[in-house]
Amino acid sequence: MHDFHYRDNQLYCEDVPIKEIAQNVGTPCYIYSHRTLIQHFRAFDQAFDAIPHTIAYAMKANSNIAILRLMAQEGSGADIVSGGELFRAIKAGVPSSKIVFAGVGKSGSEVEQALKADILMFNVESAGELKLINQVAGQMGIPARVALRINPDIDPKTHPYISTGLKKSKFGIAADRALAEFKTATALPHIQVVGVHCHIGSQLTELTPFTDALKKILPLIETLKVQGINIRYLNIGGGLGITYSDEIPPHPKDLAAAVAPLLQDLKCQLILEPGRSIVGNAGIMVTRVLYNKETEAKQFVVVDAAMNDLLRPSLYDAYHEIQHVRKPSGTDEQTVDIVGPICESGDFLAKDRRIPTTNSGDLLAVMSAGAYGFTMASNYNSRPRVPEVLIKGHEVHVIRKREDYEDLTRGETIPSFLETTA
Ligand SMILES: *Cc1c(COP(=O)(O)O)cnc(C)c1O
Repeated sequence: MHDFHYRDNQLYCEDVPIKEIAQNVGTPCYIYSHRTLIQHFRAFDQAFDAIPHTIAYAMKANSNIAILRLMAQEGSGADIVSGGELFRAIKAGVPSSKIVFAGVGKSGSEVEQALKADILMFNVESAGELKLINQVAGQMGIPARVALRINPDIDPKTHPYISTGLKKSKFGIAADRALAEFKTATALPHIQVVGVHCHIGSQLTELTPFTDALKKILPLIETLKVQGINIRYLNIGGGLGITYSDEIPPHPKDLAAAVAPLLQDLKCQLILEPGRSIVGNAGIMVTRVLYNKETEAKQFVVVDAAMNDLLRPSLYDAYHEIQHVRKPSGTDEQTVDIVGPICESGDFLAKDRRIPTTNSGDLLAVMSAGAYGFTMASNYNSRPRVPEVLIKGHEVHVIRKREDYEDLTRGETIPSFLETTA
């Protein structure tokens, strides 16, 4: 479900023609639908109505502070993975009592920052990290609430780069070592063990990996109870997939229905960390065709957006639907590679894609770009990062302006020994 649709052959976001937005802010740009964001969040939240739960939106999917504010107003917390994300979350007004902190490489200063902010808990990924958190908490005189992240060794059947719950992955603590780590943790003076965490991967299109993971974790919670370690929070992570092409991922309701029976006797607060399923289809990236270029081997459509603006096709070989902003009247089609201006062969948005014929100047919408789109953008090739626009009904709000050339060199200095120019 999303609010990008055609009216009289023109693509709209809610009540605003994409063409108008592109004229006003230029291309490339990201465009998000307020209504879609709200709907997706509420669909998730309401699906779990019957279970006491907290949604900690995984902000690495899209961390613009306007999006975070919107989520916070809907009652969301945040799943963070860095001090920078903590800064954004707090700046946006996400209550620290709903912030959870994951990641295998938390630094001492990030731990300090999070303790100072009084976040809900750390999702701890190793014995070394546990030791560090205990030490920092001791120095600060602030006890640290933690969950241990369990790696259940489950194949989520997704792209290897976004699969996180297999034995060979760097994430979490192996299930068979978990009990020992929990015991270690409870013995540490500045640590309060409050939860179990698990996140097995992203873009999951089946429910069984979720339930299989739970079936590994629930006996552990039972064992812990017997040992006198009371688990108050069960965090089952994020990972629910979305439709990029023809996937039919489970609805949050299906996820809730699948996990609810398993949780019946458990007196835990459930924490969920959806990212992609909230924002993915709530955003698009709009780009303009520069050239049609034909070589002996291929036909290329060169556009003004590149891998630095949207990395997913290059990084994961990800598929994004590409649509004409103005539906062409003719029926001519072409099979093309849609590529950007960056000096890398890996710079493409689509390969061997059958689309209606394009002309220079045409606007194209790269669909399902709301998650892991702008947040993965870089300045590679000294390309300023593109603007982000939030549409609400007829309203157009620029929630991040386009960077300019001065932004590109901010923080850089020429040392004094190089002061004279040639
Ligand atoms: C990335 C991540 C998520 C969100 O995953 P989605 O697939 O975007 O829902 C949730 N929890 C953790 C720990 C993550 O690293």
